[in-house]
Amino acid sequence: MEKKTFVTKGQLEEIIKTYPTPFHLYDEKGIRENAARLKKAFSWNKGFKEYFAVKATPNPAILKILRECGCGTDCSSATELMMSDATGFSGHEIMFSSNDTPSGEFKLADDLGAIINLDDITHIAFVEQELGHIPHTISCRYNPGGLFQISNDIMDNPGDSKYGMTVEQISEAFRILKEKGAQEFGIHAFLASNTVTNDYYPELAKILFQTAVKLKEETGVHIGFINLSGGVGVAYRPEQQENDIEAIGQGVRKVYEEVLAPAGMGDVAIYTELGRFMLAPYGCLVSRVIHEKHIYKEYIGLDACAVNLMRPAMYGAYHHITVMGKEKWPQDHKYDVVGSLCENNDKFAIDRMLPEIQVGDLLVIHDTGAHGFSMGYNYNGKLRSAELLLKEDGTVQLIRRAETAKDYFATLDVDDTMKKYL
Ligand SMILES: *Cc1c(COP(=O)(O)O)cnc(C)c1O
Repeated sequence: MEKKTFVTKGQLEEIIKTYPTPFHLYDEKGIRENAARLKKAFSWNKGFKEYFAVKATPNPAILKILRECGCGTDCSSATELMMSDATGFSGHEIMFSSNDTPSGEFKLADDLGAIINLDDITHIAFVEQELGHIPHTISCRYNPGGLFQISNDIMDNPGDSKYGMTVEQISEAFRILKEKGAQEFGIHAFLASNTVTNDYYPELAKILFQTAVKLKEETGVHIGFINLSGGVGVAYRPEQQENDIEAIGQGVRKVYEEVLAPAGMGDVAIYTELGRFMLAPYGCLVSRVIHEKHIYKEYIGLDACAVNLMRPAMYGAYHHITVMGKEKWPQDHKYDVVGSLCENNDKFAIDRMLPEIQVGDLLVIHDTGAHGFSMGYNYNGKLRSAELLLKEDGTVQLIRRAETAKDYFATLDVDDTMKKYL
């Protein structure tokens, strides 16, 4: 599939008159249309709700759009809970799926009325101690262990992951929680990340639905919801086939009708906690070429670096690159496209075939809307970029200003050493 930018070169030239590169740009129209597709794909399930994984794109402007689309938020930390609260989410619109949870965070989640998703059986005592009670509604995270396979493909290795409880532990946890007064139960699992197959959710659903039936029979609890969590991926590479969310929804429906409905569990709500699928394609990193270098290889140097987008450096992840205005040019030059960190893994692309690039060209790095800006950091004293929203009416809104040196030095201002720069 041809990868197209959601913004034109003309629009970008206008934008950079006000906002210098680099910046992340989000596409409101794309976000809304995609959220509507997801909602429709699961409309067969009465209680369906998507809890957007805030860690993917923690920005109030994005959360507000998703809230208008009927989404809740999935939080993993105190600040994500605070942002959800401030953006207008409350009660069961918030899911708290943390792990290795620091003290105080369950209390904050409970004060907001969020649904708490326990990562471990020992957290029952921890929660009870922090809150002074056990919440009425509670969820437990499941880890089936072993390898997670679809047909013969190994998707991931849950047996090696730190998350969730064994089935025996969940059964025990449900019994204890019920005894302590919990009345509404949920199950959650996240078994593979960035899957590009319509079979992931249905296969996961089958495991979770069968487990839910077994747990209901063993413990007699009422299971109100099953949370399929995140993991539905996007086609980062042009040769990949995009997920078909309608087919995914129907695949889950089929398993629901085969497993849950006959067990008298036709009232179970399906929840999702997607991050990447909701946002990745609807954000991009816009950067300008500031240098070219010819040594043993050809290098193109950008004004963005790995602190703005860590995925290539961290996972060797592919992000498609468009040289704006040269979309139709032959891709006959081989480049390493790099940032300025004193780290040789600071490369957005290695041996990438691209049109001939000149200093000053604008580059769009695709699919940075999730786990892009949010994974940013300050290594080499680099500052975080701005985030901009391309609204449905074509105007652009600054939704996070770029960091300044002052921001970077602010936390050092404990003994006045940096005063001159503050
Ligand atoms: C990261 C995460 C998600 C979102 O994952 P995506 O790959 O972005 O869909 C959902 N739930 C939990 C608990 C997570 O840690």
